[in-house]
Amino acid sequence: MTAKILDGKAFAATIRARVATHVARLSEEQGITPGLAVVLVGEDPASQVYVRSKGRQTLEVGMKSFEHKLPADTSETDLLALVERLNGDPEVHGILVQLPLPGHIDSDLVINAVDPSKDVDGFHISNVGLLATGQKSMVPCTPLGCLMLLRDHLGSLAGANAVVLGRSNIVGKPMAQLLLRDSATVTICHSKTRDLAEVTRRADIVVAAIGRPEFVPGDWIGVGATVIDVGINRVPGEGDKTRLVGDVNFAEAVDKAGAITPVPGGVGPMTIACLLANTLTACARANDLSEPEGLTA
Ligand code: NAP
Repeated sequence: MTAKILDGKAFAATIRARVATHVARLSEEQGITPGLAVVLVGEDPASQVYVRSKGRQTLEVGMKSFEHKLPADTSETDLLALVERLNGDPEVHGILVQLPLPGHIDSDLVINAVDPSKDVDGFHISNVGLLATGQKSMVPCTPLGCLMLLRDHLGSLAGANAVVLGRSNIVGKPMAQLLLRDSATVTICHSKTRDLAEVTRRADIVVAAIGRPEFVPGDWIGVGATVIDVGINRVPGEGDKTRLVGDVNFAEAVDKAGAITPVPGGVGPMTIACLLANTLTACARANDLSEPEGLTA
């Protein structure tokens, strides 16, 4: 069997186009333009690339983009003051504080200082609790992107055996909550899980989010399973170049799976598309307008 390749890049482009249509309508009919504020502290090169890309795509869908680049030695107090200002700014509907933050800043404190209704990352403790109890929340972007890919490919997830590899707060745990909400039977695995290969082999859906290059070999994948590879790992490439690989050995898994996301071009592009979708959702909720359909969980 050769798996269908789930093209996240193309799917993300359709989501951005839908977001852009809603943004244009909002501005035409209501005179409202959704705004996203991104805060970057320090000069981490990967974070700088992400923030640039977020800013560009925000403008491309017709939203306002507010970038706040602060030096690495910014104090926790100053960062919290900026978050407070953005919380009170009516032009800002979504706030994203780029992680990781420098070591002298308490990330949890900053995440929980963001107004939950503007928390487009979905990391605020209120949103985590709302998601866990099946209530309306802001949903973390990467798991939301994975869910959209799964729904698009499989339709209903009800009754499917889903295995999530990884239990981080930003991917594994919210992913498991979303799968559960869609009535999948969910197993969460981590570094202490016994018989990982056996557990994974029984899955109809595998979501790999462990951060280890090509960790999951093809013979862990059940025939016909749907594989969502969240991992982004940089490994040595040809000469002095590097290349990106996922957490799944794609070349092996593609012969066993029914469908699989590539790396790059799978989950990655979906994450920013879902950030824009979340900003639109936050803006609609803030203005008591009906939420655009199919753009949140
Ligand atoms: P993380 O916080 O480091 O969590 C990794 C998880 O994997 C932990 O729960 C850990 O278990 C588990 N794990 C590690 N080694 C394992 C092993 N040998 N067997 C089983 N489980 C193991 O990572 P993360 O932030 O969730 O990110 C995971 C990957 O996704 C990374 O490659 C990251 O770059 C990527 N990512 C991609 C996007 C995107 O937009 N595509 C977004 C976010 C993250 P313990 O809890 O027991 O330590």
